[in-house]
Amino acid sequence: MLNDIFNNIAKCRYCDRSFCFDVAENKSSRRGLASSISATCKYCGSSHGSMTSNSVPAGYEVNLRFVYGMRCIGIGKSAAQTFCALMNLPPPPAKFERLYTPIFNALETASSRSMVSLLSTSRIDIILITFSAKIVLISLCINHTKDR
Ligand SMILES: [Zn+2]
Repeated sequence: MLNDIFNNIAKCRYCDRSFCFDVAENKSSRRGLASSISATCKYCGSSHGSMTSNSVPAGYEVNLRFVYGMRCIGIGKSAAQTFCALMNLPPPPAKFERLYTPIFNALETASSRSMVSLLSTSRIDIILITFSAKIVLISLCINHTKDR
């Protein structure tokens, strides 16, 4: 499918020919659902490759989003493997559970920012103590004296 797209819209920048690309996946470079794709000109041999997903600090974005999506619908690694097999997708990331931590950290950060934003725009003062990855609500005081 990618072969058709490349060959119908692209010209080789080195030899200026059309309908000249072989597009292939390098399966040994797969990282979970992220693949390495390269396009090679049949005439001059020039080649360009790229991963199919952006790199993020925790790995590849597609893997992080996949694990997050699976967790949001209550699915763990075993069911994710079945899902990928049935959908004819590459297997999910081998270190599936390792991606829980960056997802959890991002959720914690978003939750904390949301609470800070709430505090800055409301009449509610909340004292929070962040305890490892859990936010413990210590006290909630409605401040009637603030004018906003
Ligand atoms: Zn070429």
